[in-house]
Amino acid sequence: MIKIQLTDSTKKKIEDIFIKDMQKQSTGLFQVLQRDKVKLLLEERYEFLYNIFYDDTGKVLKENVKEFLLSDRQKMKELMIKSPTVNEKDSKILQNEIFRYDTFSKRNSAYEILEKLQVNVCPYCNRQYTFTLVGDSVRPQFDHYYPKSKYPYLAISLYNLIPCCGICNLAKETLDTLKKPILYPYEEEFGEEIKFVVQEDTLRAMQGFSDEFSIKIKATFTEDNELMKKINTQVEELKLERLYNKHKDYIQDLVKNSYINSQERIDELLKKFPGLYNSKEEMQRVLMMNYVEKEDWGKRPLAKLTADIYNSV
Ligand SMILES: [Zn+2]
Repeated sequence: MIKIQLTDSTKKKIEDIFIKDMQKQSTGLFQVLQRDKVKLLLEERYEFLYNIFYDDTGKVLKENVKEFLLSDRQKMKELMIKSPTVNEKDSKILQNEIFRYDTFSKRNSAYEILEKLQVNVCPYCNRQYTFTLVGDSVRPQFDHYYPKSKYPYLAISLYNLIPCCGICNLAKETLDTLKKPILYPYEEEFGEEIKFVVQEDTLRAMQGFSDEFSIKIKATFTEDNELMKKINTQVEELKLERLYNKHKDYIQDLVKNSYINSQERIDELLKKFPGLYNSKEEMQRVLMMNYVEKEDWGKRPLAKLTADIYNSV
């Protein structure tokens, strides 16, 4: 729903932490691949992986390992399309013996990466805070955008790990996103074109006196079918409309607040309290108790909903 803002400098920092971790740790991929047992297992049963990680003489190709771990979505997609289907038993072997997400997820590096990423609200639903406290075992869950049960070799690919809330992670768990993609938060988002709208816009409901209304997620465009399909899948699989309809009390307050805090009132207040607010945007945020500017939607839960309602009233 809300895109993860990843600057070049943050990207470099998280990749450095991640690759160092994978090199240094005994269960990190670089060290795991050095083991004869693992090499043999890959050579005999998972040739598509063996060919990526080893040269003709059986030496680990370190650059390839690094590239593999930092694959972007396109590269992950190409790999999955080329790779044979992995059955449940093999999936367990690959996850338990080679692509050790279980050990990585407990290490400090996972927390450090999350802290650098600053994804403080779930990018899938924009409803829950997802703060990280390094050293205190507080962090969001990592969703595997491409599920690790079906694509176990992507279990520790950095850009397959999406920080998110527990509700979204659980709802999405087994969804095969290669076949049924949802928005990939490192690249895609709802943006201005997908909006929350109040469906039954009777005056009383719109003014917040009645809860006989429902909230819908609607597109203001129709041309990009692929994108629309992903959005529909996301709304359906993550139960977004049903969950947002649980926020009716918030929406009612929001509608009333949006009426009261018209542009005229904001201009008036700015005149009345010169110097108290740095900008019109800041005053809007304080009055609405949320961010309404698009670039800030990832900073507070329900910011996207707030912006859409505020702008529609
Ligand atoms: Zn969520």
